[in-house]
Amino acid sequence: MTEIHNPTPRDAFDLLMAGNQRFVAGAPEHPNQDATRRTETAPSQQPFAVLFGCSDSRLAAEIIFDRGLGDLFVVRTAGHVAGTEVLGSIEFGVSVLHAPLVVVLGHDSCGAVAAACSALENGQTPGGFVRDVVERVTPSVLAARAAGRESAEEILAEHIEHTVDLLLERSRVLAEAVAAGRLAVVGLSYRLADGSAKLVATRGLDAALPTTS
Ligand SMILES: [Zn+2]
Repeated sequence: MTEIHNPTPRDAFDLLMAGNQRFVAGAPEHPNQDATRRTETAPSQQPFAVLFGCSDSRLAAEIIFDRGLGDLFVVRTAGHVAGTEVLGSIEFGVSVLHAPLVVVLGHDSCGAVAAACSALENGQTPGGFVRDVVERVTPSVLAARAAGRESAEEILAEHIEHTVDLLLERSRVLAEAVAAGRLAVVGLSYRLADGSAKLVATRGLDAALPTTS
């Protein structure tokens, strides 16, 4: 099927976006979802991408990118906020499983982003550990506002890009892999209504990017 051996960051990105385009068009191929693939991948895995996205129930990774078993190493948290376990999981996907691509996947109408915005507006933060999630989104909202980017779409793009930068600032493993050309870290903004994933940030992917919108 659409298998590439030892994919480059660009190969992996193209493979992922091709799957999203099939999903958007309503023509999914459901690759790598059968019993043969299950048997093939049982002894070991070689995912071509680490997907770090929001936990939102509408962002089901293998569905929206039309992939199957063994393709994506998936880490998801509300608002794609990254603590140490998240960083460790992403590093595992890159340094042990050798995935050439890390994708940060955010989306419109994200509850975590909305909660951070309203916490800044009315000063009320949620209780429990939800507060921790909201507080980790807040710096992105503040940065967007400081740059005069006030729309929901702009704030979301800021949060996605901020997350990409945070991964590379905090993880030496990821930063070194990007510097060596072995890895790209990209940010995608997903639209719930039409299922499209648009590139909003890229580190380590070659220039002249085709923007899919
Ligand atoms: Zn969300």
